[in-house]
Amino acid sequence: MYTGRFAPSPTGPLHIGSLVAAVSSYLEARQVEGKWLVRMEDLDTPREMPGAADDILRTLEAFGMQWDGAVVYQSSRLEHYTEALERLRRHDLVYPCACSRKEIADSAISGIDGLIYPGTCSHGLPAGKTPRAWRVRVKDEVTECRDRIQGLISQNLARDIGDFVLKRADGIFAYQLAVVVDDALQGVTDIVRGADLLDSTPRQIYLQQVLALPKTSYSHVPVVANQRGEKLSKQTLAKPLDLTQPHLELWRALDFLQQKPWPELKQASLSTLWSWAKTHWRVDHIPNRRAITSSLE
Ligand code: GLU
Repeated sequence: MYTGRFAPSPTGPLHIGSLVAAVSSYLEARQVEGKWLVRMEDLDTPREMPGAADDILRTLEAFGMQWDGAVVYQSSRLEHYTEALERLRRHDLVYPCACSRKEIADSAISGIDGLIYPGTCSHGLPAGKTPRAWRVRVKDEVTECRDRIQGLISQNLARDIGDFVLKRADGIFAYQLAVVVDDALQGVTDIVRGADLLDSTPRQIYLQQVLALPKTSYSHVPVVANQRGEKLSKQTLAKPLDLTQPHLELWRALDFLQQKPWPELKQASLSTLWSWAKTHWRVDHIPNRRAITSSLE
């Protein structure tokens, strides 16, 4: 059965950019009578904002978005990530790394998403060093995926990313590992999310392969960028959604996604707008761009 999900990190209230991702995954799932799950990605405790998880759920409710089953909190699922890491360790696919950020910065070159780890610890820890993080060994081969919106994406993980972290030096499991483990355990078949995560996708496909997990389909919707070209986020001071006018916010999200909501629907009720959206939703109308500058802030 089609199973989609929305997986926010509770680092702050939802803004129009997060609504665009939530609405896309919701409509994709509901249009085919599929399931839609909500998972709170609350592993990165230093980045969390107290109360944000509840605030996000209340916001989804205010928009009339109903999820299936109970909300899953990653913070209560550490045994699954531990088990996945252990499986990789038994196959010698992960290794402990003792490098500090500074040591990596001194010897690495930049890749698609930050510095490419030069592999310093991949053949064993240098004498006298204590392990800090766990990294997965990647291959010098192309990992590809045909994204339903963005088209073909292709990376050579060894050249573009390097061996990446699955458990951080502070003991926190990395997003890349947790997301793959949870999508598989929750039976997620279709991932619809913001294109800021497009560059992470080959890493996640690779983890699915080495952990022998089912493949998922990917659709990356453009992120909303502000007039300065920055992705809306808590850091860029995006405005929280206006919960006094959810139908207007929903109309704007649909408009951003080029679904061409009729102008008169701006005056319609939330439920009228949702039924319009469920009937008219077309994923192939979404522009195949990673970001779109918008005055929606
Ligand atoms: N938690 C991630 C975020 O808020 C999204 C994860 C995902 O959809 O894969 O950016």
